[in-house]
Amino acid sequence: MSDQKKLVVITGASSGIGAEAAKEFSKLGHPLLLIARRIEKLEALNLPNTICKKVDVRDREMFINAVKEAEELYGKTDLLINNAGVMLLGDAAEQAPNEWDAMIDVNIKGLLNGVYAVLPSMKERKTGTIINVGSIAGRKTFPNHSVYCGTKFAVHAMTDNIRQEASASGVRVIVVAPGAVETELLSHNTPETIDGYNQWKENIGGALSVKYVVNSMVFAYQQPQSVCIREIVMAATGQDL
Ligand code: NDP
Repeated sequence: MSDQKKLVVITGASSGIGAEAAKEFSKLGHPLLLIARRIEKLEALNLPNTICKKVDVRDREMFINAVKEAEELYGKTDLLINNAGVMLLGDAAEQAPNEWDAMIDVNIKGLLNGVYAVLPSMKERKTGTIINVGSIAGRKTFPNHSVYCGTKFAVHAMTDNIRQEASASGVRVIVVAPGAVETELLSHNTPETIDGYNQWKENIGGALSVKYVVNSMVFAYQQPQSVCIREIVMAATGQDL
């Protein structure tokens, strides 16, 4: 029983980094709770010991209930990967306010909902890890990224602050901050934005593969609980910005 792998909760597991993390942590033998709106994509991963829940991370109550249900089956959450996110690029003076709302509500408040769902119990049990997915856009600014950068700067600030608050309880709070990664993230933008971004990605010799981002999460998680890799910032070597 003692070498039984513990529950890993992953938000935004229906594509990109989250789907790759689901496959990798499943391969390592962990039971999983996978969260996203496109439940059919979660189910299509077809992973063992896995609960798939159609939850919008903005819905705090649904998020908490999904965690409760998974914990009843698999035991308490040992790792939360707060990965769900949206990136809608645009000049702040022209961008539709509903796009600011989406980024702020998902990237900041959705992530806090995850923290709220698991951190009190982790602190009580004096163990656990939260990995928040930040971004290089949480360290520096880029054209047409004002609101997205704002949300990711918030992720970095909140992660370090929450880490400080949790440190005495032995709970680790980590931020993994990739540069451009090959995923669906850009697909909700205008064709012109997508073309420009793709051109830039080609110029830098291609974006990171999700595999390497997930490798960094596994590396941080697999350190002894007494070691907290606070922040991993990574990008394709050719990425200049
Ligand atoms: P994808 O678009 O492939 O994945 C985003 C995931 O977030 C999807 O599974 C989506 O699921 C989920 N999601 C979005 N909104 C919600 C919501 N309201 N409720 C629940 N789930 C939601 O992109 P990535 O894999 O690239 O993105 C993952 C994270 O990585 C994001 O936080 C992103 O900001 C960050 N990141 C990405 C980079 C990149 O270049 N790709 C670079 C740096 C950071 P569904 O639509 O089914 O709900």
